[in-house]
Amino acid sequence: MSSPGQNLNMSGVMQDERIERDFSARSEEEQQAFLEQTWCDQCQEVNLGMTNPNEYLFKGIIFIEGECNRCGHVVLTELTEDDF
Ligand SMILES: [Zn+2]
Repeated sequence: MSSPGQNLNMSGVMQDERIERDFSARSEEEQQAFLEQTWCDQCQEVNLGMTNPNEYLFKGIIFIEGECNRCGHVVLTELTEDDF
């Protein structure tokens, strides 16, 4: 009984939709680079590395989200169009 059946707001928010992408489709080199070149908000340090990468498109920007190798906090890498 967790959903009361109010699905009226489901449409009309397309911009907020995440489009999953296949991180593993990138070349080994690229994957390695993205896994190493990180910024962790929690550690306030660059290039600690991430695990469990998950790539998606959101509002026209590609994000690669993973977990900090040191603290496990979520780290996000944003790719602008130049990096595509
Ligand atoms: Zn960290």
